[in-house]
Amino acid sequence: MDRTGTPTTIDTHAWQKSLTQLKAKHGEKTFDAWLCYMEPKVVSGKTLEIALPNALHINFIRANLMQSVRGCMVSNISGIEDIRFVLRAPDKSLGHVKREAFPPPRDQVSSPLDQRYTFDNFMVGRPNQFCHAAAKRVAASFPTEFNPLFIHGGVGLGKTHLLQAIAWDVRQNRPDARVVYLSAERFVHAFVTSIQSGKIADFKRTLRSADLLMIDDIQFIAGKDSTQEEFFHTFNFLIDEGRQMVFSGDRPPGDIDLEERVRSRLSSGLVVDVHPMDYELRLSILIAKARQYPKLDIGEEVLAYLARNLTTSVRELEGALLKINAHVDISPQDVNIDLVRDLLQDMLRGASRRTTMREIQTVTADHYGLKRVDLLSRRRTQKIVRPRQVAMYLCKQITTKSLPEIARAFDGRDHTTVMYAVRKIDSLRKEDAELDADIGLLLRRLQG
Ligand code: ADP
Ligand code: MG
Repeated sequence: MDRTGTPTTIDTHAWQKSLTQLKAKHGEKTFDAWLCYMEPKVVSGKTLEIALPNALHINFIRANLMQSVRGCMVSNISGIEDIRFVLRAPDKSLGHVKREAFPPPRDQVSSPLDQRYTFDNFMVGRPNQFCHAAAKRVAASFPTEFNPLFIHGGVGLGKTHLLQAIAWDVRQNRPDARVVYLSAERFVHAFVTSIQSGKIADFKRTLRSADLLMIDDIQFIAGKDSTQEEFFHTFNFLIDEGRQMVFSGDRPPGDIDLEERVRSRLSSGLVVDVHPMDYELRLSILIAKARQYPKLDIGEEVLAYLARNLTTSVRELEGALLKINAHVDISPQDVNIDLVRDLLQDMLRGASRRTTMREIQTVTADHYGLKRVDLLSRRRTQKIVRPRQVAMYLCKQITTKSLPEIARAFDGRDHTTVMYAVRKIDSLRKEDAELDADIGLLLRRLQG
């Protein structure tokens, strides 16, 4: 190294020796995929600058091989105490990296991203924790050992949210990486119009320049033969190049009506599903979303009521809050269960069809080692009275039945008895942990 501190070139022999050691240590595959692209640039001070063809390589090596590369260089090349990766100037391409043939950085193909769909805004619970972890993993460092990642599940369970969260995360933390995020609809549309306008080469180039390609609702390309064909080739190209892909679908790949070869490609990485939400997840989503309405004063018991009764999708939960907020904005009043039940009749009716009072009675009786007829009987032993009250309480919570209707279902009791039971259990839950746990369990059993 030059004493004046000006950059000097490095000892090629020492460089080669380092490469040989790295190859021996990490194996040919890793070496050929990542390390062989390193080029020594200059020494600046005690730091060796190493050029790499793109951000993907830089990020991968930084995340996975940095220590090892630094160790080798420092011990072999005299005067070096650290290394730094830089992007190789594009005109210096040696041609061994195919991506240099596909230069456009910001594409016009990607779908716009929704600002709210970030990891920060995504609530995690048992039903979606695995999908969430897989998505986080991709965002943190791709390509991952699973490629592609395929997320499937019912409508409104957060698939689009997760895909876009990956995109936001990567944009922020790896701004150089090329992320292409597309709804499958847009993919088909862009493909067709690019053919019509003679710009198919541009379209292909954009897709093939992606470090991370994500296509949402991939089932949409079913039945569209030429699009599938294009998709297949893009897929193979990107896999060969070691780029990451993420897809979502409303079904697992095997159930989508696609050509066999496309289906098997889609299943070849990690296939994960978002399960229907459970009560806890619904509640935590509601609590989080309710905060987005600063003027809305909505108590936890109302949110809990919504979480118990609106079970199909997050969209439904969002719709409910929106409606409640709009209503009390126009006509200010307390938000309580009665108001909510009134406002959301339609939504709730759909939900209540799923659990009948009879089911509630049977499941509750069973839980306490009784028969359903015991609950309906007139017997007043403590062993029966408490479970009966619990069943009444659950009917009130889970169904949209009125007090008199519930009373009738309990062999024609008076509605004040039901009202008393509901209040009693409500207050007992706060002090009796065992009872509270019983009810939690019953709610899960009844509502899945
Ligand atoms: P999908 O693509 O599975 O049909 P979306 O991702 O479009 O569902 O989700 C529907 C709505 O629900 C979106 O507004 C999304 O932000 C919200 N959402 C879904 N899951 C969650 C979650 N776990 N936490 C917070 N919001 C969620
Ligand atoms: Mg979606």
